[in-house]
Amino acid sequence: MTTRDYESEEIFKLDLEKYGVSHLEGKNILTLNEHDMDTLLEALGNDDISLTVSLPCTPDVMFELVSTSECRRCGKCCQPNPLNPASPGIEVFKEELTEIARFLQVPYGIIEQKTVPGKFVPHPFGWTGLSSTRWLPLPCPFYDHEQNSCGVHSVRPVVCRIHPIIFIGDNSSFSIKLNCDYGKDLIKTAYTWVKKNDPDCEILL
Ligand code: SF4
Ligand code: SF4
Repeated sequence: MTTRDYESEEIFKLDLEKYGVSHLEGKNILTLNEHDMDTLLEALGNDDISLTVSLPCTPDVMFELVSTSECRRCGKCCQPNPLNPASPGIEVFKEELTEIARFLQVPYGIIEQKTVPGKFVPHPFGWTGLSSTRWLPLPCPFYDHEQNSCGVHSVRPVVCRIHPIIFIGDNSSFSIKLNCDYGKDLIKTAYTWVKKNDPDCEILL
């Protein structure tokens, strides 16, 4: 399946009529005006539909992209997603949990008890030599509700560092969640990069 097909599938889930944007059907997302783009991103965010971008899934690209805007630190991504209640949470490497245990100065076993076994997905950061993964359920046990912030911020897993970018197991694309303003900023920037790489690219609604 090509990246473009994947994008179409995700976008296809959006009920354009429900959001009063039927006039966008068949249009290229990459050429929408600002108002239509904002309306579309709001609708996609409300329905928890992520968008996939055709950019290399490398640390350099991801960290450069996340640095183009500011996380609003709302903590939403550390809490269960009401639109996806079956989600097991976030998938982290055991090595990352070891770092958290060291930071909190507790035995690794205490931290591991808060998690469940994960699967193993090819990691775009070349971390395939690392051990298997664990699922960290949400609400995240490391969220500091008094401070309204991550309680292990300096050692938080990479998946948290690059959120709302999501790995999709493909080295030539990744997905961006749109249920926060930070994600909406990032997709706009990512699309400008996509257009720069391929001015004829089309992502049709
Ligand atoms: S990544 Fe988005 S949802 Fe998570 S804390 Fe930042 S602004 Fe909130
Ligand atoms: S480790 Fe921190 S940033 Fe990641 S989900 Fe938990 S509280 Fe949120």
